[in-house]
Amino acid sequence: MSDRRDGTTVTTGPAATAPATAVPAAETTGSTTATTAGPRLLAGGPIAAEIRAALIADFAAFKGRWGYVPTLAIVLVGADAPSAVYLQQILRTCEKVGVQGRLVEIGSDVTADALCNEIERLNADPAVAGIIVQMPLPAHLPLRTVIDSIDPAKDIDGIHPRNAGLLSLGYDGFLPATAQASVEILKRSGIEIAGKRVVVVGRSNVVGKPAALLLLREHGTVSILHSKTRDLSRHTRDAEILIVAAGRPGLITGEMLSPGVVVVDVGINVVGDELVGDVDFESAKGIVGAITPVPGGVGPLTNALLLTHLLRAATDQAERAGHGAGTVAAAKRATR
Ligand code: NAD
Repeated sequence: MSDRRDGTTVTTGPAATAPATAVPAAETTGSTTATTAGPRLLAGGPIAAEIRAALIADFAAFKGRWGYVPTLAIVLVGADAPSAVYLQQILRTCEKVGVQGRLVEIGSDVTADALCNEIERLNADPAVAGIIVQMPLPAHLPLRTVIDSIDPAKDIDGIHPRNAGLLSLGYDGFLPATAQASVEILKRSGIEIAGKRVVVVGRSNVVGKPAALLLLREHGTVSILHSKTRDLSRHTRDAEILIVAAGRPGLITGEMLSPGVVVVDVGINVVGDELVGDVDFESAKGIVGAITPVPGGVGPLTNALLLTHLLRAATDQAERAGHGAGTVAAAKRATR
């Protein structure tokens, strides 16, 4: 597992303009179960736009109440081009909703101590409400040590063991935004999860595993498949809801699916000049009942949800800081 949080294969922003409901009629697949109308497309763009609109008002209210604009700090170690593009998207979303985005770029030869010191500085900075450490890190850096150094109260993408533990116990913590987006897109599209046979392909700490836990929280009957699972299609054909987060373009084909299954394709892969998911859309579209497009599905929702976490973190921190006393005053000074 690469333990990537954001999918460093991302090279462009997911289209916010993905069609809202249906694709053109499915081509004949030869299957007697193929539909002719095409599947319902579960587009993330419109949902993300709604969330952003609410955030604009909420961050304006935050500023009105506390007198400063919270900062999201993004730590990028080394020059990873796809990560840099993905991070530019987050920074643009920050700008759209009225949040200060701060990119902290650090050379790839940084020592673990120096990196943790930098994160400690951000932990202590009252203006910084949330911290994201971009993955993957260079191989010489110990992932666990770096993650442990993030203040759990500022860990808005839920990678710290405290937040991961809260999720596994069903308590409130910060959720990994991509995993949350893959479940939110179902809920906000009115798709019932309770009691359904839900299959998750992928078990990374940032996507597959937390998605499975969230689906369990929604009372799905959840199975998790991974790179060592034998006979993938035996399990995928059983799914009423299938979440795919493997980072393998075209891993899931139409013949591995049951008619009417709802598919959430989390994968973002660059193939040639194109962004594609982990599901082979062409062979799947005549079989599935609904599917998230790539791009334009889970991706747009992820950033919007991340900033809802930032709002919560900022509010918690401002309230905890003695109702406006020292820390808030310091935050105001720091953001002037
Ligand atoms: P990862 O590499 O950390 O984990 C991949 C998982 O897939 C592993 O658990 C592995 O066991 C499983 N897997 C790999 N090959 C498999 C196979 N042949 N059969 C069954 N399981 C297999 O990746 P990740 O960080 O979890 O990301 C997964 C995908 O999601 C990537 O394509 C990534 O780009 C994408 N992603 C998208 C977003 C978004 O906002 N949409 C955000 C993060 C990641």
